[in-house]
Amino acid sequence: MNFTDFGFDPTLMEGIEAMGFESPTPIQEQAMPAILEGRDIIGSAQTGTGKTAAFLLPVIQHIISSRESNRTRALVIVPTRELAMQIDQQMEGFSYFTSVSSIAVYGGGDGQLFSREKKALTEGTEVVICTPGRMIAHLNSSYVNFESLEFLVLDEADRMLDMGFYDDIMKIIQHIPKKRQNLMFAATMPEKIRTLAKKVLNNPVEVSIAISKPAEKVLQVAYVVYETQKLPLVTHLLKDRGLERVIVFCATKLSAKQLGRQLKREGLLVQDIHSDLEQKEREEIMLQFRNRKLHILVATDLLSRGIDIDNIELIINYDVPQEGEDYIHRIGRTARAESEGVAITLISEYEQSKFTRIEQLLGSKVTKATLPEQFGEAPEYDPAKYKGMGYRGRSGGRSGGRSSDRKSGGNFRGKSSGGKYRGKSSGRQGQS
Ligand code: AMP
Repeated sequence: MNFTDFGFDPTLMEGIEAMGFESPTPIQEQAMPAILEGRDIIGSAQTGTGKTAAFLLPVIQHIISSRESNRTRALVIVPTRELAMQIDQQMEGFSYFTSVSSIAVYGGGDGQLFSREKKALTEGTEVVICTPGRMIAHLNSSYVNFESLEFLVLDEADRMLDMGFYDDIMKIIQHIPKKRQNLMFAATMPEKIRTLAKKVLNNPVEVSIAISKPAEKVLQVAYVVYETQKLPLVTHLLKDRGLERVIVFCATKLSAKQLGRQLKREGLLVQDIHSDLEQKEREEIMLQFRNRKLHILVATDLLSRGIDIDNIELIINYDVPQEGEDYIHRIGRTARAESEGVAITLISEYEQSKFTRIEQLLGSKVTKATLPEQFGEAPEYDPAKYKGMGYRGRSGGRSGGRSSDRKSGGNFRGKSSGGKYRGKSSGRQGQS
């Protein structure tokens, strides 16, 4: 599925592109068509799944297509000011070319901030993102006009209830029209959320993104690298290690083919496997891999689900997968049953924000290993700096040179044949 499939206005599409979003996440695919149809939604999804865009994009689209000047059309209630600011930032990005207005209204700050919020509310800012207490402070005066409000979004509703905001939410709801579209999101669905949903929502569509957790026995490590350092590093990680069961995952068929070719040149027993091959060819490759005639498969996500080969020693994510679920499926190929396994992800500067999203989904940080000296300097791990900068130069082949002249000696040492691929994780800034 593509963002163009939702019939968004060209000015909104421009914003989506400028934000660096290429394809919708599963929650966006599930929730957006229903929201665009005018249905209420109850979505169970954590931060990191893309739920913010899942509700903001249809809301912006609706506002563009039924413009009324100086009217607040959508109210987003969230538990914390940080979340309000984050959502408003995304809002500004998406609506940059649309002129749909928004403001974050949150507690704290000085009198000046309150006056600014008051002005924005009086002028009928179209999308208001607020924390409950602060909104009530404004509602106590008569300048807030929610008569034209059509959308109520309750984000992180479970957290709001845990923080004791139930009464405040109900009070705010009394000030908005009964006829409206309600969108509610929560990471968990305890009974009290179901009760709130029954009170607030009208025949909602349920959208659920089940998050599987990776097996605990997988040692997960990541290298922060420049795109051009990936090939020499992966060669270094694989060569002369005595590894017999390795899968290297690539984002595209092209990159799997190129990498397969390069690793063959290094004398490794390797084969690329992807959907360009006939089913029979793929089966033959899998048989050879099972029989240890092939030691390394370079694969697309075709292989990330469902293959059942035990004792995969090492998984390498040559590219950061698009989705957290793909990451979990990929690394789930190792550490099956009783065995332990290692999963190494190479993160280029352009993939840092994607990887952060996966870490949010996992609920923990993956240790960043130090790049061995011979590969030169690595980029900083600073996802904010590189956000929205997609890598476009892939198909022209990679530079980075041949790596046969490079000596091994990084901080991941594999014992030969059958040994566990263990390493020190001299993590940058001690993330683990
Ligand atoms: P959220 O779960 O809404 O907090 O989103 C987590 C992060 O993922 C944010 O930094 C978003 O900008 C980013 N994000 C959400 N949807 C997409 C997408 N379809 N493509 C790329 N990045 C996305």
